[in-house]
Amino acid sequence: MALIDTYGRRINYLRLSVTDRCNLRCSYCMPEEGVEKLSHSQVLSYADLLRISAEAVAAGIEKIRVTGGEPLVRKGILTFLERLAALQGLKELVLTTNGLLLKEMAQGLRDAGVQRLNISLDSLKPETFARITRGGELSRVLDGIDAAEAAGFPPHKINVVVMQGVNDDEIIDFVELTMKRPYAVRFIEYMPTCGDADWRDLCVPGAEIRERIAKRYAIEEIRNSERSGPSKNFKLRVTASGIAKGCLFSGEGVDLRPVLETGDDALLRQEIGRIVEAKPGRHKVTDEGAETTPFAMSRVGG
Ligand code: SF4
Repeated sequence: MALIDTYGRRINYLRLSVTDRCNLRCSYCMPEEGVEKLSHSQVLSYADLLRISAEAVAAGIEKIRVTGGEPLVRKGILTFLERLAALQGLKELVLTTNGLLLKEMAQGLRDAGVQRLNISLDSLKPETFARITRGGELSRVLDGIDAAEAAGFPPHKINVVVMQGVNDDEIIDFVELTMKRPYAVRFIEYMPTCGDADWRDLCVPGAEIRERIAKRYAIEEIRNSERSGPSKNFKLRVTASGIAKGCLFSGEGVDLRPVLETGDDALLRQEIGRIVEAKPGRHKVTDEGAETTPFAMSRVGG
């Protein structure tokens, strides 16, 4: 079975947020103070997250990315991942993490069946890292990355949100990191999520990032494989509170909880199909004059 949206795109990738909590507080993801956290009862149980995943896989999802907030801060995550990895028909289980808990948990994640890690790392300089994350300790993340390598994970993907005047001076450092270690670094354009009116000042467009790298190193474009990174493939998101969204920036989403409460999993699968059909053609958040509703990235799984 395949999930096809009205634009004829095959949706085979589910981003599943298991918590809105995080042990960091990145400036572009959460406001400094006053983040309203989901209450315990608002967060879907692991059993419900598994039901959604199972029906999504039965409907055609082949890859699941587990996200947060920071997914490793949720209690019981390893057992949940083990169950997720056992879903019949799931070809790829990957996880996005900030790496802070990897030193302790990397082997457990590997043993649970997680196939690959995406690690968010916006700076290789301790002070800049602490500034962006509002207090994070870079050395813990670097130790975590090493631990994950030792646990047998394939080369990590490192996600870097590039911000003008904050860490854009490190673009080449990250490129050079890929020459020393077997990592794939992905530069991400800064997006307006926290109601940040000045986001254009911080944004370094992808074309400019490429130009800056090309001044130093020869770069060549390679094609994405069918299930590779989100830059070109099409995905569905489910938040920790059970809201399914076709697009990160769409204000609306469909609350899956009423369907979960019916206990009817066939209905759940139908609902997933309906959400995919209604998926917008593209997001318009960076369009001139576009209105954006501020939201914490941690709430929607990045
Ligand atoms: S960007 Fe990731 S690591 Fe940073 S606060 Fe948000 S969820 Fe946490």
